Amino acid sequence: MSKQVVVVGGGVIGLLTAFNLAAKVGQVVVCDQGEVGRESSWAGGGIVSPLYPWRYSPAVTALAHWSQDFYPQLGERLFASTGVDPEVHTTGLYWLDLDDEAEALAWAEREQRPLSAVDISAAYDAVPVLGPGFKRAIYMAGVANVRNPRLVKSLKAALLALPNVTLREHCQITGFVEQGGRVTGVQTADGVLAADEVVLSAGAWSGDLLRTLGLELPVEPVKGQMILFKCADDFLPSMVLAKGRYAIPRRDGHILVGSTLEHAGYDKTPTGEALESLKASAVELLPELEGAPVVAHWAGLRPGSPEGIPYIGPVPGHQGLWLNCGHYRNGLVLAPASCQLFTDLLTGAEPIIDPAPYAPAGRLS
Ligand SMILES: Cc1cc2nc3c(=O)[nH]c(=O)nc-3n(C[C@H](O)[C@H](O)[C@H](O)COP(=O)(O)OP(=O)(O)OC[C@H]3O[C@@H](n4cnc5c(N)ncnc54)[C@H](O)[C@@H]3O)c2cc1C
Repeated sequence: MSKQVVVVGGGVIGLLTAFNLAAKVGQVVVCDQGEVGRESSWAGGGIVSPLYPWRYSPAVTALAHWSQDFYPQLGERLFASTGVDPEVHTTGLYWLDLDDEAEALAWAEREQRPLSAVDISAAYDAVPVLGPGFKRAIYMAGVANVRNPRLVKSLKAALLALPNVTLREHCQITGFVEQGGRVTGVQTADGVLAADEVVLSAGAWSGDLLRTLGLELPVEPVKGQMILFKCADDFLPSMVLAKGRYAIPRRDGHILVGSTLEHAGYDKTPTGEALESLKASAVELLPELEGAPVVAHWAGLRPGSPEGIPYIGPVPGHQGLWLNCGHYRNGLVLAPASCQLFTDLLTGAEPIIDPAPYAPAGRLS
């Protein structure tokens, strides 16, 4: 295919979409209003699983499972080709004192996932720094986390090495160019950028851009705040989660604790209230963090969508315009499958999974 594809937004979704498309089409241009990979894809925790996978629809599960299997090879491939290691770190995950444990276990049996109830004493043996008082635990082996700031850095490096990819940072797209019902380009501050196909992967901002065509896409920013500690490399051997809050160990002993869920428009200011609340959760999970310095505190904007089901596919009535957005709390875990499915659809290949649940058709007003 000798097409030129313009990708609007260079988060993990836009970058991985561009990476996949580069092997299949003539030219790919990624435009980002800031630096690529500095918004939600940088701010997230990087758990390679939905937080409560059994609470999601089969549509999210299908993408998550495909991606989870693919992540280790994606990490290795990017590391080998760029020298930047996305650090896919397989630690397993303990959920503590869940209300819907029975649903979780039934889901695991149905989906054949390695999740099982464990004796609470076994959880304390495996994670000696776990706070006191937890009564029940379930554990899923094999769950990884990815060091997402490095993932986007390595994707950027991989794209910069490809001769048919151009990254245009600080290039805000303000609208689409249409001729006879077909999208033929995008509007930038420097004029029109022509395209055979345009991919909207602008994260939390995707709805605003689609509104310029009179379409309502229910994607809205959902603020999430996170804090970071630095401990010994082996301080926390596994991810742990209780009462909606989690601790994620990186390989070098950095521990992320998240996150809040706030509807605050596009405001990304970290707040003192969230800091105190996250610190309290951190200490409840891991009491040794009491008094430990918080080495960073930040906020990002998730691309919130109904039920967290992303929009992947063509926009009806606007030929040449495609969506890959609305991944809400799971954009890092869902990225490999979403971007492969997207590439299959755009290039007319056999899709890796049934694309119907993600089709924009019927989900826009
Ligand atoms: C605190 C927090 C914790 C999270 N934890 C996890 C987790 O553990 N696991 C997981 O899977 N997911 C997690 N997520 C969610 C995940 O980060 C997102 O779903 C994912 O990063 C979305 O990727 P994206 O590429 O769609 O959006 P983004 O990364 O936000 O990228 C969108 C890009 O579009 C650009 N853009 C916007 N408008 C325009 C325009 N008009 N012109 C040009 N460029 C534009 C932006 O500058 C941005 O770079 C978390 C998110 C947060 C905030």
